[in-house]
Amino acid sequence: MHSECLFCKIIKGQIPAEKVYEDEMVFAFSDIKPAAPLHILIIPKEHIPSLAHVLPSQQQLLGHIQLVASKIAKLYPQTKNGFRLVANSGKDAGQTVFHLHYHLLAGRDFGWPPG
Ligand code: AMP
Ligand code: ZN
Repeated sequence: MHSECLFCKIIKGQIPAEKVYEDEMVFAFSDIKPAAPLHILIIPKEHIPSLAHVLPSQQQLLGHIQLVASKIAKLYPQTKNGFRLVANSGKDAGQTVFHLHYHLLAGRDFGWPPG
């Protein structure tokens, strides 16, 4: 846990968030500024700054996050025709919070290529 990290504070309940899922490894909550009708953030409880910082020992955690994303997606009707899972890594990709997070987005058409 990093005491100055926004998402670590959300996990600890020090900053309120609309929780949608939690288990021993991950926490998921609604994005405060949704970019789509469904916009959920899925984060590891362990503080990892970005996907550029992950270690081989965290392989199971990374796989688990994708399974959780698939499981959460199935709970929401907005994902009926598809959803997008995005991890911005680093400044050029638009990462603003440096605690690894995956955006689960659904409910509208997403362009390709992105941004
Ligand atoms: P990124 O730009 O990929 O680092 O994404 C960070 C995301 O965190 C953005 O979509 C923000 O809207 C979201 N966010 C920032 N602060 C909060 C908060 N307090 N609760 C929920 N989501 C937040
Ligand atoms: Zn953190």
